[in-house]
Amino acid sequence: MNVNLLINNEDVATEQYTEAKDPGRLDETIGYIAKGNASHVDHAVQAAHSAFLSWRQVQLEDRISLLLKSAKEIEKEAASIAYITSKENGILLKRTIDEIYLSVKDMKNLADLATAAFEPRVMEDSSGWVRINKKPMGVIACIVPWNAPLVLTLQKIAPIIMAGNTVVVKPSPSASMGVKRLLQIMAGFFPPGVINIVFGDAEVGNALTSHPLVRKISFTGGGPTAVSVMKAAADTLKGVHFELGGNDPAIILDDANLDEVTPKIVEGAFRRTGQFCFAIKRVYVPMHMYDEFYDRVCKLTDSYQIGHQLNEDATMGPVNSHLQYSRIKALIDNLDKSGAHMTTLGQRMEPDNWDNGYYIHPVVVRDVSPSADIVVCEQFGPVLPIIPYRSEREVIQYANDSELGLGSSVWSEDFEHALRLADEIEAGMTFINGHGQTPLGSKYIPFGGIKQSGIGREKSIEVFDEFIEYHGINYHK
Ligand code: NAD
Repeated sequence: MNVNLLINNEDVATEQYTEAKDPGRLDETIGYIAKGNASHVDHAVQAAHSAFLSWRQVQLEDRISLLLKSAKEIEKEAASIAYITSKENGILLKRTIDEIYLSVKDMKNLADLATAAFEPRVMEDSSGWVRINKKPMGVIACIVPWNAPLVLTLQKIAPIIMAGNTVVVKPSPSASMGVKRLLQIMAGFFPPGVINIVFGDAEVGNALTSHPLVRKISFTGGGPTAVSVMKAAADTLKGVHFELGGNDPAIILDDANLDEVTPKIVEGAFRRTGQFCFAIKRVYVPMHMYDEFYDRVCKLTDSYQIGHQLNEDATMGPVNSHLQYSRIKALIDNLDKSGAHMTTLGQRMEPDNWDNGYYIHPVVVRDVSPSADIVVCEQFGPVLPIIPYRSEREVIQYANDSELGLGSSVWSEDFEHALRLADEIEAGMTFINGHGQTPLGSKYIPFGGIKQSGIGREKSIEVFDEFIEYHGINYHK
């Protein structure tokens, strides 16, 4: 199956195609993805720019209504979109189905918030009259990663087009097919040129981030790539919106109930085989609870059934790509060589298929220094270091001693106690007794990080600020 670019609601073939493999069955080709270049990027940006000139005139209610209609169709097609996405990125099918429903819920939340967000402000006194309009920016480039490609794409597109902008999306080479299916369904609801897709890697990314008609770049991915994006954007002084990596600490307080906390910590670390930005990447435990907690984590982690992402009984899938596999393997090998205490866990579901996919056993690490590489890096895989602490002052220092600041969590039976610590953490988001948002948090918390974890926010009413320009009009009486 050839998967083409999408420009002006038309399939566009290219000269070259890249083979997409199933990361859980390396001998299986899933399809061939069109390889774009700078001229395809120009074509897509010009299409988006032309569409912008009329799309920005469409009333907000009509933009919202089209978006909600497309959301309904996405729900209807959830099974087929999820299937191809999971085949391609290796994330368990049930997770990808959840991802689609979460995306649709997010779209509905934003539709609820949009009318208030775009209301112009009008003021008057004896000297003058002022109106502050919120206007769309133009063409926005969306660059997305592979690990949760559907929700991360929709989190951008929904507020962007609601605000009256148009988009050119560049998915990751290792998660392009599902995003194409999703956006093709969606694009059919909008005028041609509102939603466009170009596939490729750095060359296409660079053509997009340096194109003079692109007004802003909304990028989700790794910090080093974000540096290249920022440099490419500099020549035409574009704005950047970055959702980057994290090194989320989970702090267990001495009054936490380990029966309740441990399964949630394990899930918060190893969901998606540890490949999500706000996964728990380091756990801090009071010294006197350390051994017990470590044993409990190992016991639960050992029950993971590691298998193919479409296998309904699998609870942990493969990692996404050869790059991910070799990077995580090297991290584990280096740990082993360093003499760190680590426990390798989990059950192989199909031992005969083990080497035919990027399968990795989850690893839990103990007795590591708080400044060890495994603690300070973003592992982005199934490796979890557990670190003891002696006082709350000390653990706050550990938690904040990072250039990253995406999520974080505090675990305690006493809400006030947890809240005191939560207030001291340097992060974009701190969760208490969970590691992720509740439905209320998902609607109202601006999602994103501080320091080198990002610039700007997604979700919530605040996301609209990323994709509008202010236009002030002042009448002199
Ligand atoms: P990546 O940075 O390698 O790639 C991200 C995207 O950038 C891909 O589409 C890639 O093709 C593109 N790209 C590569 N070079 C480029 C260039 N020079 N110019 C423009 N685009 C270019 O990241 P990844 O491996 O796909 O994703 C993993 C990273 O993403 C992790 O660090 C993770 O924490 C982060 N992430 C963050 C969030 C968040 O919301 N904060 C969510 C998911 C993932």
